[in-house]
Amino acid sequence: MANNQDKFKQVIAHAKEYGYIFSSSEIYDGLSAVYDYGQNGAELKNNIKTYWWKSMVQLHEEIVGLDAAILMHPKTWKASGHVDAFNDPLIDNKDSKKRYRADVLIEDYCEKLEQKAQKEITKAKKRFGDDFDEEQFVNTHPRVVKYRSQQKEIMQRMAKSLDAENLADVKSLIEELEIACPESGSRKWTDVKQFNLMFGTKLGASADSASDLYLRPETAQGIFVNFANVQKTGRMKIPFGIAQIGKAFRNEIVARQFIFRQREFEQMEMQYFVRPGDELKWFEYWKEQRQKWHQSLGLGEENYRFHDHEKLAHYANAATDIEFNFPFGFKELEGIHSRTDFDLKAHEKMSGKKLQFFDPELNKNYVPYVIETSIGLDRMFLAVFATALQDEELEDGSSRTVLKIPSILAPVKAAVFPLLKRDGLPEIAHEIVDQLKWDFNVTYDEKDAVGRRYRRQDAAGTPFCITVDHETKEDGCVTIRHRDTMEQKRVKIEELNAIIAKEVSFKNWMG
Ligand code: ATP
Repeated sequence: MANNQDKFKQVIAHAKEYGYIFSSSEIYDGLSAVYDYGQNGAELKNNIKTYWWKSMVQLHEEIVGLDAAILMHPKTWKASGHVDAFNDPLIDNKDSKKRYRADVLIEDYCEKLEQKAQKEITKAKKRFGDDFDEEQFVNTHPRVVKYRSQQKEIMQRMAKSLDAENLADVKSLIEELEIACPESGSRKWTDVKQFNLMFGTKLGASADSASDLYLRPETAQGIFVNFANVQKTGRMKIPFGIAQIGKAFRNEIVARQFIFRQREFEQMEMQYFVRPGDELKWFEYWKEQRQKWHQSLGLGEENYRFHDHEKLAHYANAATDIEFNFPFGFKELEGIHSRTDFDLKAHEKMSGKKLQFFDPELNKNYVPYVIETSIGLDRMFLAVFATALQDEELEDGSSRTVLKIPSILAPVKAAVFPLLKRDGLPEIAHEIVDQLKWDFNVTYDEKDAVGRRYRRQDAAGTPFCITVDHETKEDGCVTIRHRDTMEQKRVKIEELNAIIAKEVSFKNWMG
């Protein structure tokens, strides 16, 4: 197979050519980091959703589903911390046209001052040997004192300016420190702008700021605010989970890598509510469960790895990423987080409503702890699609491009061909389509020679091709060919449903 970059280009081109993914509003030259899913893409996406939903909701008696609205009361995002913490202060360099986070530029400057201070300390350590008193040195050496106090002063000023939303001063600071663009060396900067990753919108025609809404940046909060509704109406007992699939929106600054980082994407999230103190046990349980789910699809164990977070978010007491080997390297596909009681408590405080569970065994009320599993549907799509796309050398010296999508996820399960467009063969093929279409998504194809039709279906990811020939009229049998092995068998038309059903049975894949 081609090198990684070529492979990635091939994935993008193939996804378009076979009706999986198009640029959004392509006839207007597209919209950056927004994509549309075509006829095959929509099917694959739905099949991934179903595979996740069934394994979460159907296979777990204690997990139920939810479909919360994208628009939520604006206080939700205040409580969750997104209004205050989903902000980046941005600045552009006018010469290089590169965009930076202003706070990161200033922090990098301070880091350089610290490196200078460290240099002095190392030098002195060498000079004084065992007699070196580091504390006294850093407190009295004029240059070290200067570097350290400069850093402190700069960081304090930046924090104060950011807190006060005084972005003009953040820019002044960058100018006073003569910070240059790392790319061009230029010091021509635009004004600093506060950039919240949430997309804002307005409710109705009102101009007042109380009606400012956000498109949700994650689906999780829809679950938290419905905790009490679901718990009471479903008479749920802890531990229990709420699962949801839905769109999320983030105005990503640097959005590249095709559907990996989009501004509009879908998440499949499950929040599992547990007794405080039990959370790390359940964290391990969900790590294992999610790994099982991924392994069941056969994308290759070597393509997955766990990356435990060393630096935890303020609300988490354990977190891990499931990373996947994408064409551009190992990157986050799914996050598993132990979120403590942070979210429910924050919503209790903001709303004044109790979000607690009465535990009959302990005979007391508490705010449950939460384990979250959160996977990007589009990233899962990319993982499946990129891994499935293969160029194969065949025994006869020829080659083929095949999309070995796990058959349970394949958009079209079978293509039915008449060998020729005459002699009553198309009619029989159509009858077979009518017989299969109640159970499976199937297609009819009569164009080109059968060999070309096989190649076309291989490249589109269809697991079965079924060919009707003249003998079919005599013996009621057809040829069924499998995409992966290219093996052909003659079987009775009545057997077709059972053969396909076995191949795409949820139980056979997940069980
Ligand atoms: P990243 O660090 O890659 O930005 P994140 O840690 O911000 O991701 P989470 O907030 O944990 O992501 O969201 C959960 C999941 O949602 C991620 O594991 C990922 O699969 C998906 N996701 C997040 N941002 C995007 C995006 N911009 N486009 C597509 N999927 C995304």
